[in-house]
Amino acid sequence: MSIKHFTGNFTQQEPLSEQAIKRASEVLQTGRLHRYNVTEDEISETALLEQEFAESIGSRYCLACTSGGYALHITLRAMDLAPDEPVLTNAFTLSPVPGAIHNAGGVPLLVETTQDLVIDLNDLEQKAKHSDARILLLSHMRGHIVDMDRIAELVEKHNLLLLEDCAHTMGAFWGDNPSGSHGTAACFSTQTYKHINSGEGGLVVSDDAALMAKAIVLSGSYMLFDRHQSRPPETAFADIKLSTPNLSGRMDNLRASLIRSQLPHLPDNCERWNTLYQTLALQLANQDFIYIPARAPQERFVGSSFQFLIQSFSAADAEHFVAQCQKHGVELKWFGAVQPRGYTSTYRSWRYFAVEELPVTDSVMQALFDLRLPLTFSVDDVALIGEIIVATAQEIVT
Ligand SMILES: *Cc1c(COP(=O)(O)O)cnc(C)c1O
Repeated sequence: MSIKHFTGNFTQQEPLSEQAIKRASEVLQTGRLHRYNVTEDEISETALLEQEFAESIGSRYCLACTSGGYALHITLRAMDLAPDEPVLTNAFTLSPVPGAIHNAGGVPLLVETTQDLVIDLNDLEQKAKHSDARILLLSHMRGHIVDMDRIAELVEKHNLLLLEDCAHTMGAFWGDNPSGSHGTAACFSTQTYKHINSGEGGLVVSDDAALMAKAIVLSGSYMLFDRHQSRPPETAFADIKLSTPNLSGRMDNLRASLIRSQLPHLPDNCERWNTLYQTLALQLANQDFIYIPARAPQERFVGSSFQFLIQSFSAADAEHFVAQCQKHGVELKWFGAVQPRGYTSTYRSWRYFAVEELPVTDSVMQALFDLRLPLTFSVDDVALIGEIIVATAQEIVT
């Protein structure tokens, strides 16, 4: 049987809208790109973005900054992370997550991954019990949301602070609650491959006045924090403003304008991603050697990427499968390779801190394939991608 060929580009984003480009050029024409460079009574694009984003999550406060990783870093610092303090986090996440913990002076304490690609709640409970960790940095990696009701119980029982990494869950919900509204704070990314594209960018949301005051000063507010709209009262800054360093990582008004222009379209785009996701899910569903991670009914995820597991493949099979798919134009990532490529580093390639063996995560990574579903793909494109994946896998299985 001859396998078809796909010619689309897996990393091509949609262009920014005319309206976004128009707004961005208006900002450029003012010359006032720095967030604190405002005329009298003017509220900067960045401050407006913070207000609008906080509202979209239902949070009291929001801070915009330079990247998702930076947002995680300063939020951990604002949680008063002590030197070498362990921070519970997912073993399956992207490298900026352990990187942010390291940057804040902590040490990642990695928790096992289930075959549904979420944190293993039993391992989490054991590690919460038998460590001094105070903080759980819960990463909704690739948009998979663990049972947040069970997380709430665990956080309560073990007196943990919950920081959500929502880089892949902007626009997603658990039940009726937006992802990012479940903990003490949450961080989002507006890097090009996430759900809103400003090149780089990060957002912190929280209801905690003391935490947010520190995060604002850490981000480099030059004592101009009164120019923020979405911020705690002056009193929250009084005690900390002189004892908190300036770690300079502010958002600028140009990027803020790009994010503001995209924010109203996020719900529609999430639906478009989910249509692509369901199309691919349907194609792969009837192959008994392919496992598609299960989703809880409360999980209203955003299918901007797709993951599946093939447990029966050896490492050689997996390498061959990826190469064959590539030959037919389908770009898959495999998390089982000894040397990480592109975005597929696993916990074994983070050698700057000590890790214990995580055998369950290892076996999940060995079987795990991943692909992006950019909105430049049509439903027909994704159906074709599904056909190619199935046909290529079948040749190896049989
Ligand atoms: C992209 C990403 C981040 C960090 O975002 P940057 O803006 O690239 O720093 C954090 N966590 C996960 C899971 C990500 O994919």
